[in-house]
Amino acid sequence: MKILVTGAAGFIGSHLCELLLQDEENEVRGLDNFITGSKENMRAFYKVHPRFSFVKGSVTDKEFLRPHIEWADHVYQLAAPVGVKFIMNNPVHTILDNIRGIDNILELANQYNVKVLVASTSEVYGKSLDLLDTTGTRGLTEEDYRIEGSTQNHRWAYANTKALDEFLALAYYKQYGLKCVVIRFFNTVGPRQSSQYGMVIPNFVCQALKGEDITVYGDGTQTRSFLHVYDAIQAITELMITEHAVGQVYNVGNPFEISIKELAERIIQKTNSRSKIRYLSYHEAYGAGFEDMQRRTPNIDKIVKTIGFKIRYDLDTILDSIIAYQKAKLNVT
Ligand code: UDP
Repeated sequence: MKILVTGAAGFIGSHLCELLLQDEENEVRGLDNFITGSKENMRAFYKVHPRFSFVKGSVTDKEFLRPHIEWADHVYQLAAPVGVKFIMNNPVHTILDNIRGIDNILELANQYNVKVLVASTSEVYGKSLDLLDTTGTRGLTEEDYRIEGSTQNHRWAYANTKALDEFLALAYYKQYGLKCVVIRFFNTVGPRQSSQYGMVIPNFVCQALKGEDITVYGDGTQTRSFLHVYDAIQAITELMITEHAVGQVYNVGNPFEISIKELAERIIQKTNSRSKIRYLSYHEAYGAGFEDMQRRTPNIDKIVKTIGFKIRYDLDTILDSIIAYQKAKLNVT
């Protein structure tokens, strides 16, 4: 199987390449523009592995992309702007890169009959769980309504462009029979995730290891559900080869919820840090008008039914692996 991974130098993309290379039948080509990805992430296989090749460039450039899609049997479309902080600071590129990238990928995949996995995000649900589930007990299902706010809040632009990615993929499937699978990642975490783009776990772990204040935004009662990247990539490779998944949308996440305050406390305790929690308003963290969702947790019945999805890594294991990674990176013992 010839497999193209866009966003191969990113956090999830680099782990995915490694998993795909474990199968001796696979030849993997990575593509990345290095805006948020890095060669360091690919250290284990870049210029080392005989079945891995790499091209530098952007999915927004159709003619650059063409020969690589033509070459492939499968494409994992993971190339996208990433992280709430990065997205808030790059409003134009967030929109254009998402839309142009998916337009090119799907058009070429359709032309050359290549199967595509489109990586979307739980951001597409917006605030739906807060507004639909007053009991605070259930998770989001793929059929749930999506509730997003004003166009003046750029966070919702990201959510909407990702939703448009989904619409376009499903439209190609319906109109032309293009084989595609859409997945929605829920807070995927693990080694190699950078603290640079504002994601909460690498941020807290770095702050704790450096003895800096842990910056909790809002009152810290908001919850998130974290999935280890190894579970995420295992799931998407299985979905990619399952006929039942074609033309479908899947949540890829872990239903276990933790509040951000509790997460901060657990990280302080695990790192034996002297750091203290400092509360910042969303306004201070992201600027005026920023909105967060109180809960965002998946219902995973659909993916369990299709591939027998199993979560292998609990939050403690996840945190231990991230702490070990960041310690090595920061050279802390
Ligand atoms: N957050 C925080 N401190 C940080 C970074 C994030 O309190 O330094 C909060 C953020 O406001 C959100 C949660 O942690 O409620 C998860 O943030 P992240 O950016 O990792 O992902 P999101 O779920 O918002 O996409």
